[in-house]
This record gives sequence, structure tokens and C-alpha cells, in this order.
Amino acid sequence: MERYESRVGPDGRAVVRVPWRGPALLAHSMYNKSTAFTREERETFGLNGLLPSAVSTMEQQARRVYGNIVRKTDALERYIGLAALHDRNEILFFRVLADHLEEFLPIVYTPTVGRACQEYSRIFRRAHGLWITPEHRGRVREVLADAPFEDVRLIVVTDNESILGLGDQGAGGMAIPVGKLALYTAAAGIHPAHTLPISLDVGTDNQALLDDDLYLGWRHPRLRGDAYDALVDEFVEGVRSLFPRALLQWEDFRKGNAVALLERHRDRLPSFNDDMQGTAAMAAAGVLASGRASGTAPPDQRVVILGAGAAGVGIARLLQSALRAAGVEGEALFRALALVDIQGLLLEEPAIEPFRRGLGWPAELARQAGLRPGGPQDLLAIVRALRPTVLIGVSGAAGAFREEVVRAMAEAVERPAIFPLSNPTSQAEATPGDLLRWTDGRALVAAGSPFDPVSIGGRTVRIGQGNNAFIFPGVGLGTLVAEARTVTDGMFAAAAARLAELVSAEDLAAGSLFPPVSQLRRVTTQVAEAVVRQVLSQGNGRALRDDEVAPAVAAMQWEPAYPVLEPAGNA
Ligand code: NAD
Repeated sequence: MERYESRVGPDGRAVVRVPWRGPALLAHSMYNKSTAFTREERETFGLNGLLPSAVSTMEQQARRVYGNIVRKTDALERYIGLAALHDRNEILFFRVLADHLEEFLPIVYTPTVGRACQEYSRIFRRAHGLWITPEHRGRVREVLADAPFEDVRLIVVTDNESILGLGDQGAGGMAIPVGKLALYTAAAGIHPAHTLPISLDVGTDNQALLDDDLYLGWRHPRLRGDAYDALVDEFVEGVRSLFPRALLQWEDFRKGNAVALLERHRDRLPSFNDDMQGTAAMAAAGVLASGRASGTAPPDQRVVILGAGAAGVGIARLLQSALRAAGVEGEALFRALALVDIQGLLLEEPAIEPFRRGLGWPAELARQAGLRPGGPQDLLAIVRALRPTVLIGVSGAAGAFREEVVRAMAEAVERPAIFPLSNPTSQAEATPGDLLRWTDGRALVAAGSPFDPVSIGGRTVRIGQGNNAFIFPGVGLGTLVAEARTVTDGMFAAAAARLAELVSAEDLAAGSLFPPVSQLRRVTTQVAEAVVRQVLSQGNGRALRDDEVAPAVAAMQWEPAYPVLEPAGNA
């Protein structure tokens, strides 16, 4: 592993020591400046004959590559173009991403990243991140030590089994940790040398991949049971010993595993699961913001969540604990929150899966509400019976918010808040345009994927994107700045509350429950500060005075600009 050695030079610019020269320096994505190497650097590092004569500014380079990328009309081609830039010149990649975040977020992240996962073994150019397979059992620490840089602070790891709404994508799932870490750098400013994407490639049960001769993953059925747990344990121990300052983000694990892994490891090292906790905080922020728009106090909301999987259970748990903190208890707590899965309303019965425990309704309460517990109920019957003020879709069931369901909801409440969050776009429970039409423009809509504005009743409604990217970069940055030993639910609740406050009156007036994605960096900074303050109040991190919080967050935020390079002793 290489040490990334950076210090602040006399003119305030970063100075980085580089152990490479000549073609090896040009091939190193972290140090390569390509045509922006200065005349002096070309001299010092043996690059004189290796570059065309003109020295470009970073702004010129950014303009050149941006032009090359937007010339491509297909989103996957744009993804490939951006990934190639990432492979050649990381700093320029992050400059371009930061400057065009709203335009490129749907490329490096959902929805296009979903296609990139599916096509991974066909569009593969260059490996990125670390791969751990069952063949590494007994020497996972050694494999982790292959990481390019030694001071790893942030790891995103997936076992590829539940990628977006697309299921088991095998080795292709790696595009998700790569994309999420790119967002950490673009939104939170975490330096890329501190980040490490990891695939726990434990095989795949996706037969089409196993049958594909170009498939790049470990070509076996999924490892399960004790052998799987032992591999993950070894991985976590390796991370703890090799990267003691790192925060670990679990990503796109199947629902049962997601909960079990988080519970098992969350006190061993700072870690969280974005699908559950990040989604939960994002949705909770949406509920709070919808309450601001409709004038409904949080304890008066009635929330129905379609899909009791990893995301739905995570949302329900966070909302439940927020309600408890607001003094809501007993029957009122159930009435405020209902989970619905394929069988209908989730009931607290002996056979309920452990990860859903505590979230099901008592059968008697369902009966009182006019539902036949145990009988088949469709969403329409449930909406009629419970009259929700908020309807959240995390089922992956495209079109599940049918017209009659939405009309029934809108009959009972003036401003129904409806969040079809399932990704990618094709899986959304409804389109924002339909939701607004079926409710005469009264619905407060937030979607999981980006949607164009909708014209209705002579006005244009901006569709807020309920994107976890408003939460996880700030939680991650706040955790690192505060040096929190664990990532608590309270930190996510603080992030949600801050995000909801950051939705401006203009956003709400334009119909949006989230700030525009162009504000991501500013939002992330504020969310991170709220998270640090929460850690301070919990006392599970380092000691900081309140007035030290904002400077400490700012100090960890890197701006993509070329540093001055100086040769290390062996260059
Ligand atoms: P999951 O597989 O863990 O859960 C999905 C659940 O929905 C399952 O329990 C399944 O039984 C249930 N379900 C499927 N069809 C249904 C139907 N017709 N009616 C009722 N229930 C149904 O998946 P997950 O990780 O929870 O993700 C679910 C969806 O939410 C995905 O599409 C994902 O992309 C999306 N999601 C969006 C965001 C976001 O927008 N920020 C964040 C996380 C997840």
C-alpha cells in the first residue's frame, strides 16, 4: 500500500510527494495531470517527450472532457466515458462531476449505474476497488493489504445480492460501491485516496451470469450459511486491524443478511447500512417536509409503506423511534405506521421474520380498522381503511400505486404525500405525472429516480428526488469528523431533521420536498455538522466545542484541484 503524502505548501496549495515518474506517473490515476503537467513538472518527472507541447489549464481540460462525454447520446456510453476518465485522471473526474453534479448524478448513480451493473462483464475496462472471494478464506487481511493507499477512512462493501431493484448482479454489483464513493467525494469532499470500494464476491445465483462465458465474477453458486458468516467475520476483523480509522458502509445486501450483518458488526466498528438507514432518514425527511407543506404535525401523520423489505423495515424503524421520542405509544403508535407486503398488512404473529419484529400490527387492531387479518387484502382496501396521509413505495413493484388507490387516498386527505421510491425508474410504483393528474395536482410527490417537472393546472411542479445521496455523504463525513465509535440511529434522525429544514420555502412552493441536487454539497455540509453535534451530545466520539464543528467539517472537505507534485526520494 502506498502512503498518500500531502501537506499545505507556502502558497496554500497542497503539495503531494510522488514516488513515480515517466509513463508510470502518467498511468497513475491519482497523480496524473496529463496535459496540465507544468513545464517544470515535465522536466522533473521525465515527461517532456510524453505529452503534446501545450500546457492546458484544468478548466480547459474539464471543458474538453465534458464536451466529449455529452456528445454521447446513450446514458451507458456516458457512464463508460466518465468511468474511463476516473481510470485516467481522478482529480479531473471529480472536478467534472462536481461541476455537473445534477447532470451526471443519474449516470454515476441510479438509474444508469443499474445498467452498468447488468452489463459489467461486457463493458469492463479496468478493475477498480478490491475483490474478496471465498478462495481468500484465511488470508483476507493479506488481500485487504493490496489496497492502493494505506490511510483508508471510508469503505463501501457489497455482496451484490440485492442491487437496486435488480436483484443478484454478481460481480457487476461492484459498480455500486464505486458510484457511491464517487458521490462521497463529489458531495462530501472526502479525498479519493481515503476511499475503498469492495466486492465480497461470494458467487451468484443469477443463472444467466453463470452461463455467460464473459462473466468476470467467481463462477459459483452463492456461498451461504456459516461459511458466508465466517468470511464476513474475517473481512470485518481485517478491516479493523488494517484500517482502524475506517467507516464501513454495507450496501445492497439481501434483506435478512442486511439486518443480521448490521446488528452483528455495528458495535465492532463504525458501520451502517445505507439501504436501510440512509433510505430511512431520506424518507423521514420527506415525511417531515410534507408535514411542513400540508401543515400536519409529525405525530398526526398516518404512514403506509408498501414493501416490508430492507428499505421498508428501515424506514418503519426510524419513523417508529421518532414517534416514540415524540411521546406516541401503544395503539396510536401502530395506527401511525403500517407496513404492507405481498400478503397485505404486516401482522405481529409468531411466524413473523426476526428482522420485521415489532413492526406488525396486532390482529385485533387490524380487525377494528375494518381489515380481515390473515385474509388477502389489496392496497386499495388498506388505503380505504387506514386513510394514510403518506404513502411510501419501496416494493420494486412497478405501477403498484394504481389510479383507484391514489384517488381513494386523495378523497380522505387534502395533500396526500406519495413517494414512489423504487428504483430504477422502470420499477417506480407510479409516475409523478400520473400521481399529480389523479389528485388534481394536490399530491406532494417525491420519487426515487429523477423525473422531469410536471405541468398541471397552469403550474409546473418540480419533482423532488428522494435520493439517499442527501443523507449518506453527510452521515459519513460527520462520523469521520466526529470520530464516532458507532453510528447510531440518533445520528440518522439528526440528519433527517436537518435535511427537512434545508428544504426551502421556494422548494416547497415549487412542489418539491427535497432540495435540488445542485445543492448537494451545501446540504451535505449542513447534514454533516448536524451529525457531528449529535455525536457530541451522545458522547461517543471526540470532544469538540460547538464553534469548532463547522471548521472541523470544512477541514475534511477536499476540493478537486491539482496539487503541486514533488518527487519522493525514490521517484
Ligand atoms: P427488498 O427486496 O428487500 O424489499 C422489497 C419488498 O417488497 C419485499 O419484502 C417484497 O416481498 C415486497 N414486495 C414486492 N412486490 C410487492 C407488491 N406488489 N406488494 C407489496 N409488497 C411487495 O428490496 P429493498 O432493498 O427494500 O428495495 C426495495 C425498492 O426500494 C427497490 O426498488 C429499491 O431500488 C428501492 N429503494 C429506493 C431508495 C431511494 O429511492 N432512495 C432507497 C432504497 C431502496
